[in-house]
Amino acid sequence: MNESIQQTPGRLVIVSNRLPVVLERSEGTLTTRPGSGGLVTALAPVLRDRGGIWIGWSGMPDDVQKEVDHVLTDSSLSAGYTLKAVPLSGQEFEDYYQGFANEILWPLFHDLQSHCHFDPAYWTAYRSVNRKFASHIRDTVEAADFIWVHDYHLMLAAAELRGMGVENPLGFFLHIPFPPPDIFFKLPWRFQILSSMLAFDLIGFQTMRDKRNFVQCVRMLLPGTSVRSEGGFHVLRHDAREVRAGVFPISIDYGEFERRARGREVAESAWYIHEALPDRQIVLGVDRLDYTKGIPYRLKAFRSALRHHPELLEKITLVQVVVPSRIDIPKYNDLKIEIEQLVGEINGEFTRSGWVPIHYIFRHLTRGELLGYYRTAEIALITPVKDGMNLVAKEYIACNLEANGVLILSEFAGAVAQLHRDALLVNPYDIEGMGNAIYNAFSMSPAERKRRMHRLRATVRRYDIYRWVEAFLEAAVSRHLQDFPVVSEYIPPADSPDIGVSI
Ligand code: UDP
Repeated sequence: MNESIQQTPGRLVIVSNRLPVVLERSEGTLTTRPGSGGLVTALAPVLRDRGGIWIGWSGMPDDVQKEVDHVLTDSSLSAGYTLKAVPLSGQEFEDYYQGFANEILWPLFHDLQSHCHFDPAYWTAYRSVNRKFASHIRDTVEAADFIWVHDYHLMLAAAELRGMGVENPLGFFLHIPFPPPDIFFKLPWRFQILSSMLAFDLIGFQTMRDKRNFVQCVRMLLPGTSVRSEGGFHVLRHDAREVRAGVFPISIDYGEFERRARGREVAESAWYIHEALPDRQIVLGVDRLDYTKGIPYRLKAFRSALRHHPELLEKITLVQVVVPSRIDIPKYNDLKIEIEQLVGEINGEFTRSGWVPIHYIFRHLTRGELLGYYRTAEIALITPVKDGMNLVAKEYIACNLEANGVLILSEFAGAVAQLHRDALLVNPYDIEGMGNAIYNAFSMSPAERKRRMHRLRATVRRYDIYRWVEAFLEAAVSRHLQDFPVVSEYIPPADSPDIGVSI
């Protein structure tokens, strides 16, 4: 670990909507199990070494808060850092989380304003829950602690804290994209959100595109703000306060994915998948059920590939995994129906005895199953209409031990800024272009696959989640972006993105 991070005075306080543990009730007793995910794994050692606290919602109703606090005391001992729950009522959960976060900020920040439900009651709840989080933070922190707030659920936290007189250093990382001004300005509470963000000291974005959009919004909506470039950041000065905005593309625990992909469980799972789907290339899609993932366009592109390239028939199978998510929101249920209808139509049109073109899975996979698919699939088809980063792309790369896979990647995934040189790029709205990319991937020579995949693996290995945590915390104290990839913005070419591919 970098020395200056260890030497930083004060503890690390992480704040996110959810705590990094899952609380469950079994036979009347509340229990916890550690949450999964690279972010938790990478932050845990820093929290243990520096002394740390994680503040978030437990996922449990607020009338069992005493019981929640009790089990979290035990979990804190085993985690090696303190877990503190912010209680939320059922109504708060509905209006702040389901409402403002997932029916306003999520679609708007992914450029899908037609999916937004701008209910003023959601805004009231968002403000009051952000204030509630802030008062829990205030009651917990000591003067030298560094507070690191995560994601779009808590964009008002810094302004609330400053209003309460908290002057600790405050960092924020936005895991989702930041939209361009024309879209952001549709938010009825645009001024409050944007000016509140300026109360942080350091703001991290996934890509240059997101940072540029944010800076443009500030320049246009808050014209009194001065903006300069310094040490790899944009420094924005407003009302005697300075905030630095930087780019920190998030990543995965590469070593852990690679290690597990080599293990027996995954090898067995991969073997079964091959046995069940012999003599063909597997194209893999893995997504949460979400309209940002572009699943219907992708299915149509697969249909276009089968229609225009008959040599693919019986030689290719799309395994599309859809993980259930936010099913209570009507748009998500509509999407599920649309996907299932398309899968039915395409399978109806092309199925032959012994070959079904699309295998559709609607459930959570076990780690072993997921990594088995990553290891086996010859092609990964990752085509969101907009995505903050897309970790599935990086996980596929880490698990592709034989370096024989091809990554087809949307131009609108955050990951494109780091991976564009060696992935086959597609515009997810260009159905025929995507169909041709599937055919190009299918036909790509083993040598070309290896050349591209080796470079993709080197990139993801080098900038893993540990490097990401270190870079953000280092930036918080050193004021310079050192040794971190300030990847330039990906600009789509004038012609079709992958026109120059040599296969
Ligand atoms: N994933 C999972 N269970 C599954 C399939 C996927 O936990 O059955 C995980 C996957 O490993 C990845 C995450 O879900 O880490 C999806 O992250 P991504 O950034 O691609 O998209 P998000 O869902 O965050 O929008």
